[in-house]
Amino acid sequence: MTPSPDAPTYPLVAATATSVEAMDGLLVGCRACPRLVAWREAAAVAPRASFRGETYWARPVAGFGDPDARVLVVGLAPAAHGGNRTGRMFTGDRSGDFLIASLHRTGFASQPTSERPDDGLTLTDLRLTAPVHCAPPDNAPTPTERRTCGPWFARELELVAPRVAVVLGGFAWQALLSTLAEQGWLVPRPRPRFAHGAELTLHGPDDRRLTVLGCFHVSQQNTFTRRLTPEMLDAVLLRARALADAPPSGVRRTDDAP
Ligand code: SF4
Repeated sequence: MTPSPDAPTYPLVAATATSVEAMDGLLVGCRACPRLVAWREAAAVAPRASFRGETYWARPVAGFGDPDARVLVVGLAPAAHGGNRTGRMFTGDRSGDFLIASLHRTGFASQPTSERPDDGLTLTDLRLTAPVHCAPPDNAPTPTERRTCGPWFARELELVAPRVAVVLGGFAWQALLSTLAEQGWLVPRPRPRFAHGAELTLHGPDDRRLTVLGCFHVSQQNTFTRRLTPEMLDAVLLRARALADAPPSGVRRTDDAP
């Protein structure tokens, strides 16, 4: 029997989804974290002055982009007046502006802006997601909330099966490595620490390989202070593309000598 969307076990239904689209259809009904449900809905009834009159999405925000992407960008969680307002990941706030502009410069995004779900933006060979799908107070989900949301993230990783993960910040770094370890990937112990520019190649079930790239989060805290510059983000994304394009080691290219 399918658990109620209010039950802490509801996210376990993610395992039954056989496509990213099917999983997202289940995800948007989730109400498993009472504190986050209250927060996402409170933002909708007290919008910022500049968004007054808008109808907020105020539900879980699904990943966005190519479901068969070779590159997965992993953020933290939707912003209360960004993704939680527009219903699309990294859409309608400064973090999204910074990230999408870089995705456009590096050839992953069809346009440099991400304002509304109907703005025509498409992503090619790249998908955006987060280990927590509802906006948290102070951008800080609790460990319990991360664990509760974990089945959605785990299933998305299985279904998308990226070759490269660009991880924005330490929270997402820990969430990704924990999830991969639970899925049987060989994750070193002690766990490698997050750093901007960190690069880690992991081996998983069925001979799969995933390269994980660390990058400072695109939050205003980092971009306004130039801790993360456009050039730094572009460099990480170009590295992700190069890794995605590289033939898997041990695989002979058709033009290799016999
Ligand atoms: Fe459901 Fe995840 Fe939102 Fe919690 S954070 S209510 S598990 S979608």
